[in-house]
Amino acid sequence: MEITIDQLYDFKSCGLKFKLTHVDRVPNMQMSENDGLREAVLMTISYFYMKLKEDKMLSMESMKQKFTSLWYGGKVLNIKFDSSQSQRKRELDAFGMLASFHRKQRYVPDEVVSVNTEFRIPFGPDLFITGKIPLIRNTTRGMEIVNFKTSNHKQDEFWNRTDMALTLQAIGFHSMFNREADSMCLEYLKLGTNAYVERRRKDYQRLYKQVRLFKEHMEKGYYYPRESYACDKCPAKNYCMEWS
Ligand code: SF4
Repeated sequence: MEITIDQLYDFKSCGLKFKLTHVDRVPNMQMSENDGLREAVLMTISYFYMKLKEDKMLSMESMKQKFTSLWYGGKVLNIKFDSSQSQRKRELDAFGMLASFHRKQRYVPDEVVSVNTEFRIPFGPDLFITGKIPLIRNTTRGMEIVNFKTSNHKQDEFWNRTDMALTLQAIGFHSMFNREADSMCLEYLKLGTNAYVERRRKDYQRLYKQVRLFKEHMEKGYYYPRESYACDKCPAKNYCMEWS
């Protein structure tokens, strides 16, 4: 079995959501505005870095065009908008984040090592978890893994320590470079601030144990609903109602 980090998070938050979206693959699944905004902003930033790696600094206008093609295009991201007003309002939000990101890069551009570096980590002979490291850059701190955040608030210390995606990226980095990353940075686009996290052996052990338990639950078919505030934005809500 091969699953992505996002699928792992879906399973963690609600087994039924994971089953409906990734096992049954029910049709017409649309992502929420929040998820769509995050994806479109992150894809625009990846595009910026791919060009920067080729020594080409994209203009803010080109970044806006890239974002707009994703936001209004509908082909790559299947987003369910609440209304055309909120679609426009979110677009302006995104432009604000991209503008402050671009200002920083224009004066002191990052030294890009790689963009969207893919990894595939084995957990035993029959389970692989795949994911991407959004950006690896050279800094005065050394080689740094970077993740961009579009939320209004910073993750707390506990979440920073236990975030599975960051731990998997650290393991992925280790398998590629045969050493630990020198630094891991979370860049908050809206807040204009950075936070730094670290991963150690103990964090790896916690993750391996968690994944082993997830696997056991999947094999036993423990796909039950976990109703929470997150149901509000769940794309599988209508199908979930039929579960009994
Ligand atoms: S609506 Fe809630 S309980 Fe139902 S699948 Fe979605 S997240 Fe799970």
